[in-house]
Amino acid sequence: MESQKDLQEFIFRSKLPDIYIPNHLPLHTYCFENLSQFKDRPCLINGSNGATYTYAEVELISRKVASGLDKLGIKQGEVIMLLLQNCPEFVFAFLGASRIGAILTTANPFYTPAEVAKQAKAANTKFIITQGLYVEKVKDFAKENDIKVMCIDESPVEGYMHFAELTQADENEIPAVKINPDDVVALPYSSGTTGLPKGVMLTHRGLVTSVAQQVDGENPNLYFHKEDVILCVLPLFHIYSMNSVFLCGLRVGAAILIMQKFEIVKLLELVEKFKVSIAPFVPPIVLAIAKSPEVNKYDLSSIRTVMSGAAPMGKELEDAVRAKLPNAKLGQGYGMTEAGPLLAMCLAFAKEPFEVKSGACGTVVRNAEMKIVDPETGASLPRNQAGEICIRGSQIMKGYVNDPEATKRTIDNEGWLHTGDIGYMDDDDELFIVDRLKELIKYKGFQVAPAELEAMLIAHPNISDAAVVPLKDEAAGEVPVAFVVKSNGSKISEEDIKQYISRQVVFYKRINRVFFTDTIPKAPSGKILRKDLKARLAAG
Ligand code: AMP
Repeated sequence: MESQKDLQEFIFRSKLPDIYIPNHLPLHTYCFENLSQFKDRPCLINGSNGATYTYAEVELISRKVASGLDKLGIKQGEVIMLLLQNCPEFVFAFLGASRIGAILTTANPFYTPAEVAKQAKAANTKFIITQGLYVEKVKDFAKENDIKVMCIDESPVEGYMHFAELTQADENEIPAVKINPDDVVALPYSSGTTGLPKGVMLTHRGLVTSVAQQVDGENPNLYFHKEDVILCVLPLFHIYSMNSVFLCGLRVGAAILIMQKFEIVKLLELVEKFKVSIAPFVPPIVLAIAKSPEVNKYDLSSIRTVMSGAAPMGKELEDAVRAKLPNAKLGQGYGMTEAGPLLAMCLAFAKEPFEVKSGACGTVVRNAEMKIVDPETGASLPRNQAGEICIRGSQIMKGYVNDPEATKRTIDNEGWLHTGDIGYMDDDDELFIVDRLKELIKYKGFQVAPAELEAMLIAHPNISDAAVVPLKDEAAGEVPVAFVVKSNGSKISEEDIKQYISRQVVFYKRINRVFFTDTIPKAPSGKILRKDLKARLAAG
């Protein structure tokens, strides 16, 4: 029964009952809690070479890594950066660091050296684990800041420590650390609703809660189980893959098939060869599957679940992929790094399956509360009325690191995290996302923070003002485009501006088009009126 207060406040909960969540446990303890049930089963399969690690092996290696990190002088509370493509070492390093109470900040290995340095500096990184391919990117910064660097490549990279220093350490020499559930364990970066990327403090309690919300309790089939083979193609540095693939996979004892990076034919081969049953995707990968003629050459009938998240997936795309994978159930999840990340998930896979509505991203996760508020008045709205989606529960972030102001703007006094997404709850407790209030641009699910590009643009001597907004794009979902006011007498061209930006950023942040304009529309407060610019784009 909803209480009187809930009725007035229109608080929405999961369709499923709450569960017991052991969120007093450190993350690694929780993940391995049921180890005895599956210790000889495959845990990680390296898609690059077929090497397989059992659960017992992964657990042992993670203890060795913990001991090795301690030997290298990494202390509880210190930050380690993982600058890696998907690989088993990501998992080993993550779990080893968790054991000694260290914090992992994960970065995109395709970042430019300046982008890596920015995050490493902001996170106060003490140690970087990377691979030979990317070591040049961190070389100078690490030297200047006395940061140790280690490479995971099979053959040692000259001048750098090798991962074997960790995996050969004595697993019995892990230091005794007391981990508080509210200690931070992961520090991914996200721009949230406004401004520059910020470190999102995810605690042991938060991540344990989020994983449990997905895979624990009465409904063992809610998402996946120990007989499943989960495809890990989404980048582990992003919270979606880190949490809903790797951590959830470990908790249930499933086999996690690691693909270094997305490549359609390789993906199809791996699905067929390893009989992948769970395919967590983002819409651009779903699109590739729907469109690729290669798909018909492979047996993909093992896939029982396709999960899509990180960006909206339209009905046409849903239908197109259903036609290609008739055996699979297709469902959306809705996540946001700051929310831990999952806010809502489709229940197609629950013991008593619920109807999956096209375009919906499922029901609120268990043990959490959601409300939809009027962005102007803050009043909570009833069903079927669109407003800003807010979530509350132990899974959400502790806050942004070293940024109490941004934290206060995102999590209010009552503990509600404001997502900056616009959506509504329907009569069947299904959440629909209809718009985005916040600045964030999503290119194939990757974050592009307009503020970051705007800061670069206005730093150019021939640009006096600029604003960056999303433009719809079939393949990427959205691409960033810039409105630019030239400085007096400047002859700067669209091409000059594009090149100036692309030298500084990872590929998906590149400016797709430049529109020259006389002024950037702004509110009296100085805030860019992005809506007006988006309307200009829509008008053509
Ligand atoms: P990130 O923190 O990188 O995971 O980005 C979070 C944002 O991605 C959300 O706040 C939404 O704007 C968007 N997003 C995530 N999942 C979905 C979804 N299923 N449908 C629409 N937008 C989504």
